Amino acid sequence: MALQKEKTDSVLGWEVHDHLRSIGIETPMTPNTTDMMDKRKLSIIEDHFEKIMETLGLDLMDDSMQDTPRRMAKMYVNELFWGLDHKNFPKCTAIKNKLAGVNTGHSFVLEKGITVNSVCEHHFVPIYGRATVAYVPSGKVLGLSKLNRIVEYFSRRPQVQERLTEQIRAALSYVVETPDVAVYMDAEHFCVKTRGVQDENSSTVTLSVGGIFAEDSSDTRREFLNLARMPS
Ligand SMILES: [Zn+2]
Repeated sequence: MALQKEKTDSVLGWEVHDHLRSIGIETPMTPNTTDMMDKRKLSIIEDHFEKIMETLGLDLMDDSMQDTPRRMAKMYVNELFWGLDHKNFPKCTAIKNKLAGVNTGHSFVLEKGITVNSVCEHHFVPIYGRATVAYVPSGKVLGLSKLNRIVEYFSRRPQVQERLTEQIRAALSYVVETPDVAVYMDAEHFCVKTRGVQDENSSTVTLSVGGIFAEDSSDTRREFLNLARMPS
């Protein structure tokens, strides 16, 4: 999925940002670029990437590479890292939960197989995997595609998987106004596959749970984990 500007909510984005910062899990950022126009970012990144390539000894006059600095800048700003801009948080129109107050136990809504397409902040190479997200609706319910959108928004940043998982849980919790949220993620890190230990087959699993999902002995937690671990 690409960024759909008409489906964003900047007010909610700033609220979620403040919330994440207050609980210490917002992505570390400096305020200097908050108001910088994308055009300016593109030209600065293009300049710097040109220097990186030149330093590596690459000939930027070569017609295959001459546009690479511009392409890299566009890819960073418009495709890989648009989740750094709080204005791009997805619109999350919630509808009233008609079952609220009806005794449904702890039945939850779960979506699995959500694509995680992110970038590792230590090496700037891909993190690729799947997430399972669930919540127990209290007063508010969301359209299912919003769960994908929230995962996508936080994935479009340089990330560490642990923080990414936490951010998705905390943001969803904020939006649907319940602590009963769980996120399970299984992802491959290309920095592990292609460099360092070069282990091609390992994957990393992270879990972030709140409310009923955090209670060790709860059936809700057990059911969630069973469903999340089941191959899609
Ligand atoms: Zn890495």
